[in-house]
Amino acid sequence: MKIYLDNAATTQLDPEVFSAMTPYLLEHYGNASSHHAHGREAKQAIEEARNTIASLINADPSEIIFTGGGTEADNTALLSAEGRRVITTPLEHHAVLHALNKPHYLSVNNKGEIDLAELELLLSDGVPSFVSIMHANNEIGVVNDIEVIGKLCESYGAIFHSDTVQTIGHYRHDLQNLKAHYITCSAHKFHGPKGVGFLYCRKGTNLSQLLHGGSQERKLRAGTENIAGIIGLAKAFEIACRDIDEHTHHIQNLKSRLVEKLETLPGITFNSTSATEDSLYTVLSVNFPPTGIDLLALLDQNNISVSGGSACSTGSASHVLQAIKSDRSKDTVRFSFSKFNTVEEIDYTADILYNLFKVTNNKIGEVEYSV
Ligand code: PLP
Repeated sequence: MKIYLDNAATTQLDPEVFSAMTPYLLEHYGNASSHHAHGREAKQAIEEARNTIASLINADPSEIIFTGGGTEADNTALLSAEGRRVITTPLEHHAVLHALNKPHYLSVNNKGEIDLAELELLLSDGVPSFVSIMHANNEIGVVNDIEVIGKLCESYGAIFHSDTVQTIGHYRHDLQNLKAHYITCSAHKFHGPKGVGFLYCRKGTNLSQLLHGGSQERKLRAGTENIAGIIGLAKAFEIACRDIDEHTHHIQNLKSRLVEKLETLPGITFNSTSATEDSLYTVLSVNFPPTGIDLLALLDQNNISVSGGSACSTGSASHVLQAIKSDRSKDTVRFSFSKFNTVEEIDYTADILYNLFKVTNNKIGEVEYSV
């Protein structure tokens, strides 16, 4: 049995999505900018995908710009902040943080929660601002109330960007209620293909061009469209929204089951709100007592794929765990779930950890661990 519990890093392509994509790799492979039949066919398919996506988030199709994934969508939104003071949080993904030059960081508590009063105080000074706050954090699962933040930004005339990469396809988004100017999406986080996503940019909002060249995407994003990817993105999004209630329920059950099992082990703590119902239901961030054993490698040897933080920050200390002052003497494992995971997989994973951490004089083999 090979167990994949790293779905916040990426997800398995849904076979239904694969079937929808293949005709656009093998038969309808035209360049959407060409004027002949092959090109027109490709163009039409892209516009249908745009319409599908727009209707799923209650937006206008002209507000959807296809990108090469979440990073590009975030980078493009932030490029459009020019001239404004940028306010963000230390917990954002590197796709946001590394695209910013000396932003103002809001403080976060040890759960990773921001203080909206601090944001309001800043916005009230009248400096034209661009606020970038993610919907849910990919490492610790803390969820920000972006509806409230959007309204706050609107009342002070601030532009609001939210990195919704971890929540699109897992939560419903309605852009008539959500007062965001930009939100971002990456297909591979909800069983679509890698390297494709979209940027939602509200009508009338400034949009700077990141990629220069041809006049694709109404001259907003140059480069031949990834037609099969775009078809896959729209299909994956359609499936995700169609089955959202069933999948939420299934994944929440898996997560609660793992929480209940791990809670019985000595010395275990959970980061942020990740073990509660307030958190991103696909992510569980657990601190294990130090053992001297490489926990990720041990799980890997037992055919269980998990991560220590985010896939993108592998090898370096997690900026998110540092920002929430998580106890760094402990070993952190992020378990992240999808609709394809099963109860058997959760039980097997818990068993492996039980065997490792069961209290035999606080020793794992010859290694003592502190609880
Ligand atoms: N933002 C968040 C919160 C993410 O989790 C990720 C992916 O890990 C990204 C942005 C980047 O998306 P992509 O991998 O599509 O570039």
